[in-house]
Amino acid sequence: MLLKDFFSRFPDEESCVSYFKEIRQTVGITCPQCGSTVHTWLNGRGEFQCRKCGCRISLTKGTVMENSRLPMYAWFFTAHLMTSFKQVLSAKEIQHQLEMRGYPPVWLMMMKLRDIMGKRDAMYKLSDQIELDISFFPTSVLIKSGGEKLLETKKTTVLVLAVSKAVDEILSEYLSNIAHNESINKASRLIKKAARQSVKKAVHYIKMFAIPNQRFETIKTFVTASIDRNAIAVTDGGNNLFRLRELLKAHEAHRETEDGMREVVTNVLPWVHIVTGECRNGIQAIHKEVDERFLQLYLNEYCWKFNRRFFRDSKDPKYDLFDHLIKIDASYTSDIKWRDYAGAPNVVNIS
Ligand SMILES: [Zn+2]
Repeated sequence: MLLKDFFSRFPDEESCVSYFKEIRQTVGITCPQCGSTVHTWLNGRGEFQCRKCGCRISLTKGTVMENSRLPMYAWFFTAHLMTSFKQVLSAKEIQHQLEMRGYPPVWLMMMKLRDIMGKRDAMYKLSDQIELDISFFPTSVLIKSGGEKLLETKKTTVLVLAVSKAVDEILSEYLSNIAHNESINKASRLIKKAARQSVKKAVHYIKMFAIPNQRFETIKTFVTASIDRNAIAVTDGGNNLFRLRELLKAHEAHRETEDGMREVVTNVLPWVHIVTGECRNGIQAIHKEVDERFLQLYLNEYCWKFNRRFFRDSKDPKYDLFDHLIKIDASYTSDIKWRDYAGAPNVVNIS
């Protein structure tokens, strides 16, 4: 959705409330007391009422906006900016645009949105062929030294997963089905696209996880939760990864050699490197070194948007990214608290 469309659809608080009410009814409301899903909207009170037990449920109860004192317009405006801009936006910028005095509520709102983006993507497991790699993101942590609090820079380990396949392999799949026009069209589009790109693999979905260390036992937890057992992992053959074959259908280890390093990066694991570089640069450009505790939230935002990268240019309303985020707003709560931030080392740096 373009900025002009946002302003015409949502000129004020009432228009946001009315739309969110519709979205909640579409997503479904469950009574916290009796579990009934049938409700009446009490127009005068701006609440739902359970038809079975009479319990009243506020419009934001059970959503990401629960307990927020911000106007719904602020949530909508922020959701729009976060979905229509490719770049990472700072809470300071949103605070400025909303002309709000306080920084904490804006920071909290954005972090909660990033949190529920992660919750949504956690519903899906990756399958087929998966590039798997370990990378590092610069972060900061607060340490206590002799009664003093010091800011220390560190590198946080990030597990990067990307579903990808060689363009040639996809082409032969399309061409084995030439009875269908759609397959031929897809093949023709892919050939044109591949001719413009140096990367000879096509990427589908990605996931990124900030993890405490790169031991196999740690990686195992994330792989088990986020990759289908029938998938094939493609890696650089690191020692900590060879037991992946116990968890998945197969593990293709492409060991790097002095000469083969470039070959592995560009041909075997191109997408984990591309998305890592893009995500890391995007975060650093706005936030410098982020507090390690919040790195996962920034990764969530990057992955959520990357996984829906074609939505942004689609004219089809069902792919409207803003609508997708508002539906998620209505479906998930977030436990992130401002006090999680109060002791953050880089209060000054977070902009
Ligand atoms: Zn009820």
